[in-house]
Amino acid sequence: MPSPAHLARGLRALADLSLPVECGGCGSAGVRCCSSCAGVLRVAVPVPWSPTPAPPGFPPAWAALPYSGPVRGCVVSWKDGGRADLTQLLAPVLARSLGVALRDHRPWRARLAAGAPVALVPVPSAAAGARARGWRPVAELCDTVLSRLPDDLAVCLVPALVMTGRVRDQAGLRRSDRLDNLTGAMRVRERRLAGLEGACVVVVDDVVTTGATLREAARALGSAGVEDVVAVTLAATHRRLDAPPAGAALPAGPGRV
Ligand SMILES: [Zn+2]
Repeated sequence: MPSPAHLARGLRALADLSLPVECGGCGSAGVRCCSSCAGVLRVAVPVPWSPTPAPPGFPPAWAALPYSGPVRGCVVSWKDGGRADLTQLLAPVLARSLGVALRDHRPWRARLAAGAPVALVPVPSAAAGARARGWRPVAELCDTVLSRLPDDLAVCLVPALVMTGRVRDQAGLRRSDRLDNLTGAMRVRERRLAGLEGACVVVVDDVVTTGATLREAARALGSAGVEDVVAVTLAATHRRLDAPPAGAALPAGPGRV
């Protein structure tokens, strides 16, 4: 019996077939992702990433690509343009970020060598955003990554974080107000805590800009007793946190901060 998530994925795939085809990265007609944009995704080299300056409590993080050009095009098309088919192209990018984070996060070396499991915790979508899109892209991206990993790797998806609904629209807020605005925006579902016990916990998001979202995810997990988390993303910007309020300058699309 297929799960509701698999049924939903199948229905979206059918819907995709009826859409006019264009490259998710650059809009070229006749192809879902042109060779040039696919090439940019393929050469992803994940690097440690931190906002400048890093907000207190920001976890160690790795991002695979700069959030610009075809990368931005693909992420916006995927997340907000109804292009769920691009999950298949973005999953290897996230898998690379995850692989480098697990390889390079020194405090986890002994634990991973001893067989500690890895728990992927997607940053939650706001309820309204999830309803509007009809799916949860980051959770589905994690699911797709997991489906491609060898069975002997102890990696699992634990959707432990939920939004509390306390967030105001971030547009137009100054840096310190943004950080304050997100504090308390997430909490951990108690019934999911068992899935994180003893695991190396990796928070997953699509794009990181100011770092406030990843910091809030780490704070919420820490307040539930889950310490020493790291974060991985598909892409990152390097907009300075102390820049003027970004209202007009904020990239359209993922809506992450
Ligand atoms: Zn293209």
